[in-house]
Amino acid sequence: MLGDNNIMQYQLNRIIKRCEVWRNRLLYYLKLKPSQYNIEMVCHSSSYLISWLNELQNYDEDSYEKYLSNVKILLKRASETIFNYYYIRCKRYASLNSKYSKKYIKSVKMLLDHVYYVLWCSYYAENDSFIENVCNIIVWDIAKNLPPTLSMKDKRDRLVGRNLWELMIYFEKFLDYEIPEWAIQKFQTESLIKPKIAEEETYNIMAVLDEIEESNPSISSDLEYRMLRNELLWSTEFGSKERRKILKKFLRQRCECGHEFKIVKSDLLFDIKSNDIIIYAKSVCRNCGKMVVTKKPVEKTRMEFDALDKLDEYLYNVYQISLIDKVKAMMQKQRY
Ligand SMILES: [Zn+2]
Repeated sequence: MLGDNNIMQYQLNRIIKRCEVWRNRLLYYLKLKPSQYNIEMVCHSSSYLISWLNELQNYDEDSYEKYLSNVKILLKRASETIFNYYYIRCKRYASLNSKYSKKYIKSVKMLLDHVYYVLWCSYYAENDSFIENVCNIIVWDIAKNLPPTLSMKDKRDRLVGRNLWELMIYFEKFLDYEIPEWAIQKFQTESLIKPKIAEEETYNIMAVLDEIEESNPSISSDLEYRMLRNELLWSTEFGSKERRKILKKFLRQRCECGHEFKIVKSDLLFDIKSNDIIIYAKSVCRNCGKMVVTKKPVEKTRMEFDALDKLDEYLYNVYQISLIDKVKAMMQKQRY
């Protein structure tokens, strides 16, 4: 028993020590003049601090609560500093009378690239009013001034529109803010809501991730990767549960002739109008052969695809590995 306690205490100290390292770095960079480099370092150290806080929470809830109360103010300052730095740049270029200048779009890109750090830090700092503030600025200033995705000629500029759309969806679906219809429509394009992989392919994701980690051992110790992987694991669990539940419900329906249905095809579609991912199932009566098509929106599956996109992007940017391509390749292999 004593031995176990010692090991626990040792682990706990180790985690807290890591928290301290990143807390001190964050504090250091927050004190410096806000240059692009220093702000990057604020993002970097705050995200590492948050990862270790997560680790601490998994290990011991009480120590986590105690530690969090010490760093809340710091995380609050970090989120405000990051946001203000990039938002001021947007305002600077917006005031150059032509709002659609390349420089304006680029400064919006920078803001969007860093906004998730802002949201994470605010979330841990329990600074809800700041999150609300950010949401309002994103809609009533940024979305208002940025040209619609479809009107942008440059591919990189269209990506900024895409990112803005994703951010607003994030606010709407996961943080429960009301985003006006015009803002969503302005940046939405058909390719945006279309899942990159098919439903049947989602079952291969974990196997592919294992393969990737096996052939690149350094990846598994990458904290950011682990954070994104956990997010995906968690949302895949919820997503597939949701789909199974819906399909089961479809199957419980009875045909007019009193017999059961069997599902002959199911897939995920997207509905551009309602901005939803929809599960659709074609079922046939086992007796009379009557065919029924049923559709239902799947919110948790949407989360799963978003998490997949994020992990795919990260792996591609940092390791030049395309997760989605590998999932598709595995599917091909199984087919033949
Ligand atoms: Zn029937």
